[in-house]
Amino acid sequence: MKKNISYAFLKSLLFFTFIFLLVSITYIKNLENIYTKEINNSIESELNLKITTAKNNFKILKKDLLYISEVYEINKNYSTIKKELSTLLAMKKSYMEIYFLKNDGTFLLKLKNKTDMEPTYSKYLPIISQLKKGDIYLSPIELKKENQKIENPKIAFVSMITPLFDKDKPDGFLVINYPLTELFNIFSSSNFNLETLLINKDDYILNSKNDKFNFGFEFNKNSTFDNIYKNLSTAISKNLSENSTGTFKNDDFHVNINKINLSSWLNNNSQIEPLILKLVTIIDNKLIDIRVNTYLKSIMWLAFLYFLIAMIISIIFANYNIREKETRLRLKISDNVFENSHDGILITDRNNKVQRVNKSFTKITGYTEKEILNKSPKILKSTGFHTKLFYKNIWDNLNEHLHWEGEITNIRKNGVPYTEELSISKIYTDENDFFYIASFVDITESKKNKKMIEDKLEENKTYLEIINDYLITIKVDINGKILDVSDAFCLICGYSKEELIGHNHDILRHPETPREFYLSMWENIYSGKNWEGEIKNIKKNGESYYVHTNISPMYNNNTITGYALVAVDITDKKRIEEMSITDELTQTYNRRYFNITIEKEIARAKRDNKTVAFAILDIDFFKQYNDTYGHNKGDKALQDVALCLKETIHRASDYTFRLGGEEFGILTTDINQTNFHNLLEKIRINVEDLNIEHTNSKISSKITVSIGGVVINNKNINSKKIYKLADKILYKVKDEGRNKVFVEEEL
Ligand code: GH3
Ligand code: MG
Ligand code: MG
Repeated sequence: MKKNISYAFLKSLLFFTFIFLLVSITYIKNLENIYTKEINNSIESELNLKITTAKNNFKILKKDLLYISEVYEINKNYSTIKKELSTLLAMKKSYMEIYFLKNDGTFLLKLKNKTDMEPTYSKYLPIISQLKKGDIYLSPIELKKENQKIENPKIAFVSMITPLFDKDKPDGFLVINYPLTELFNIFSSSNFNLETLLINKDDYILNSKNDKFNFGFEFNKNSTFDNIYKNLSTAISKNLSENSTGTFKNDDFHVNINKINLSSWLNNNSQIEPLILKLVTIIDNKLIDIRVNTYLKSIMWLAFLYFLIAMIISIIFANYNIREKETRLRLKISDNVFENSHDGILITDRNNKVQRVNKSFTKITGYTEKEILNKSPKILKSTGFHTKLFYKNIWDNLNEHLHWEGEITNIRKNGVPYTEELSISKIYTDENDFFYIASFVDITESKKNKKMIEDKLEENKTYLEIINDYLITIKVDINGKILDVSDAFCLICGYSKEELIGHNHDILRHPETPREFYLSMWENIYSGKNWEGEIKNIKKNGESYYVHTNISPMYNNNTITGYALVAVDITDKKRIEEMSITDELTQTYNRRYFNITIEKEIARAKRDNKTVAFAILDIDFFKQYNDTYGHNKGDKALQDVALCLKETIHRASDYTFRLGGEEFGILTTDINQTNFHNLLEKIRINVEDLNIEHTNSKISSKITVSIGGVVINNKNINSKKIYKLADKILYKVKDEGRNKVFVEEEL
């Protein structure tokens, strides 16, 4: 989530920064132009204002001049005029002097405001004598002189002259000397700290921002503006000489030239030699740079503020974006869940009119959304399956607990009833508004299946009972612990279930069944193979029984957890079989079985490349024993010797046979001469150790035996030859004195 926010935040911050940079670059790029324009406009307005102010000053001058001339015409009383004009002069500090001249240009009356001077006006006579009533002549600029010398500081002025009349008869002239200081002040003062120069027709600077030059020039060539603006002089001179107005610029300056006709401000009738000045405005380009820089500084703060705001907006935006995204995702998920749910879903409004259904709804009911939209879900209601009370209970639950779920049978569009597991919820969107959402699963099929499974299970139960009753089954874990047995098994072995479960299966092992048999059997089973064979077991009461057994491993996740034994009782069959191969008196195998077995063992030994060993045991002087102790004792002695034989030999592959009379056969495989001899010798000793009294034996006081054995390692041998060999060796033993063991090897 945090990662998301910072990513979205960065994204929007980058966006805002990009916008900011775009705007800034464009804006700063235009800034100079904007400011140049703005300053130019302001300067132009300032210039116009200056000109208008100057013009107004001149208008007032004109009015005053004409007013005085009218007063003169009305009242030629000089003392009155003098008085009146003195008041005017006192008020108008700007007026230097007022003179009344005679027609010949000589003074008639002087009204001095500031200094005394004696200018000569006769030089203007040719022009001013031509003036009509109301006309005003504006003289060229002059410098104030005292005693024919120019005063210091220099004072420039112009004379304004209008003719006086006495009843339309020319009666002299009125002169007002006006100092140009005021005019220059108007032009030199600027809000933009720029230079405004007034230049006369001879290219002399009349005023300057610099006081030193502000009309402080001498009327000689040394004081041209060349001295101040050397680099501009040529350009301005060129422009001025062309007598043109307009603008021009270079890298450092922007120059504006205006031509102003001062005479025309006083007199509509253009003067023959009008007083024309040139107004040169010099704008230093640095001014714009300074302005731009100042502005940029303020923009820096604005930029900082912008970033702060952009950052806040970005965070809000990022948060909003993420929430929006999450909401969209959630909506998408719920939409997907709704549409693709295996449950049929139905949404109805507060009036229980259908608003939305999903695909599964259509699949189950057969109604498309279009068909059921704005209708009541009642069209699904079945008849004959539920009572009115059932439906009432649903509504009661919805109103009270806002939820109901249960099984209900409805009708599909095709009229077929179906059972569904339905869950309805009443959901409030606000205090007064709510809707219903119902989801259901069609359980018609599963109900059918459930019934079928139940039936099958019932059937299976019967089968299992039968199995339990009639089939021998045992389950053991991998350690051989009995987990379960069938009743049929309990019946055969005589143990109860409780006595068997939890015990090792060893409990069932018959002592006569050699351990090796079990070892090889389990080895086979542990390797994951099935095992099938006959096992001789022992009952609780010690009787033996035989089972034909199938053992298969039980698995859990590919791991053997135990073994299942299924067995069939073959005791009866085994008994018959046993009887046919057993000698009844001695319970050893009979001659018949010897004949079968020897062939099998020879074949097996040949196949496995093993030796076959065979011996014949004969009781010494047994005829005498019978004669001495009787036939019954003889039988008993035979049984004792047979038991001793069996007990001495207990390898699974060792066989003992009663070959006939008091002769026994011992058959084994995979043994060498020495070992066979040792085994036979052990038998001989064990028989002797039985201590069966035989007083009539010629070699001992007890029963002894003579044994002749042969170990065969010859592939061409057959059973008859083996028998003959053993018999021959036995005779040798008899000849050598009996109670001995001879073993020969036939290679
Ligand atoms: P030898 O030391 O040379 O073997 O002398 P022997 O007397 O043991 O040998 P012989 O073959 O002459 O006699 C065998 C006797 O075994 C004959 C018979 O009385 C006795 N016999 C054979 N079968 C049975 C039987 O089933 N029961 C009893 N009690 N005696 C038997
Ligand atoms: Mg004999
Ligand atoms: Mg004998």
